[in-house]
Amino acid sequence: MTLLQRHRLASLVRHACVALLAASLLAACSSVPAPAPDAAVAIDTSRAVPLQARRSWAFAEDGLRFDNLAPAARLTDVERLGPGHYRVTSAPETHPVNPSPWFGFAVHADAARTLHLDFAYPHAYRHRYVPKLRVGDGPWREPAEGEFTIDGEGRAQLSVALSPGSTLQAFAQVPWLPGDVRAWADGIAARTGTGTTTIGRSVRGRPLPAFVFGAAPGAPLLLVVGGQHPPEYTGARALAGFVEALAADTPAARAFRERVRVLVAPQLNPDGVLEGHWRTNANGTDLNRDWGPFAEPETRALRDALDAELARGGHVAFAIDFHSTFQDILYTVTEDPSRAEGGLMHAWIAAMQARFPGRLDERPSAAASAVFKNWAYCQYGAPTVTYEVGDTTPDALLGEVSRHAADTLMALMAVPRAAPAPADCTLPTGG
Ligand SMILES: [Zn+2]
Repeated sequence: MTLLQRHRLASLVRHACVALLAASLLAACSSVPAPAPDAAVAIDTSRAVPLQARRSWAFAEDGLRFDNLAPAARLTDVERLGPGHYRVTSAPETHPVNPSPWFGFAVHADAARTLHLDFAYPHAYRHRYVPKLRVGDGPWREPAEGEFTIDGEGRAQLSVALSPGSTLQAFAQVPWLPGDVRAWADGIAARTGTGTTTIGRSVRGRPLPAFVFGAAPGAPLLLVVGGQHPPEYTGARALAGFVEALAADTPAARAFRERVRVLVAPQLNPDGVLEGHWRTNANGTDLNRDWGPFAEPETRALRDALDAELARGGHVAFAIDFHSTFQDILYTVTEDPSRAEGGLMHAWIAAMQARFPGRLDERPSAAASAVFKNWAYCQYGAPTVTYEVGDTTPDALLGEVSRHAADTLMALMAVPRAAPAPADCTLPTGG
């Protein structure tokens, strides 16, 4: 993290919303079991990073028991520092890795007790996420005033009152588990008259879902991708809002779907999600640096699904890849000609910035690294964007922005445009 990022993080945390998160989004979480790896599928885990030890830590003197048994949980160690006072450590799946220190665990209390937790990470990684809390199967919430503090050195502490017999869950973000992603995808696919397909398998054999809707093969294709980086759930919720707007039963969306075909791959890294990874897939690879090497089954699956789709005709007309970072940002490709006045990317970003002044910076960079947007640009010449949502952007706002992003893009893509010219670039193929 740069000093500027640290400053922004501290500022974001100070201003962190303490209201309840939107119950409608959260009530759906964890309702569907995660898909089990298919025993019939050949999987190769010879390069896999170690699985975390799933276990519990019992402290009879305080009547407390911690565990990391839930899907997407991550907890590496628990140390008792004093009565009701503990240090909880989460270690990354590999090191060095992007500073997105994920954590997730449960604490069961036998008796009423106030719990004080100090968050710790190895290798001097600093705390990043405001914990999301829930008791039992209740709704997730943000910490109340005074429950969570973080100082200028990044030392974070959570203090919560536990009632007898209760179980508190504390996660870095509210996870979107693969079973729930699949149920959501099935719902959208059914609404648009199609079905969810499995485009491939993760390293550990889990299905990679995708669905296609809208115009027949041969039409311009809008490509929507997400879930490469496990902790980035604000980006995942923006993807959901964006796709729901494309699939809506409105005149504009129906007209759009008559002209444009949409391919959605909502969660490319289910192994990383379920294992509570900070960044990578089961092989310890950052999938968003693998769109050149194609060393991983997850990136190959989408590449091959696109090849099969485009073999039926059509062209990629726009590609969008959802992520999260410290603030809302649109990463574009410097060389993309559609960024010039009159181009699709230019018009889309201008409309977004006019509607949400000061919220969405565009940051172009040369198509040099093996990230998805660069690959999609070099491969198809298409307008491509990495749509980054801030870690603390509230659900209501990110929903409003992502719906507007979809509505604006649908209006712009309703106007026929020539297929993009091929781009003259190649990306590094080394790992
Ligand atoms: Zn990301």
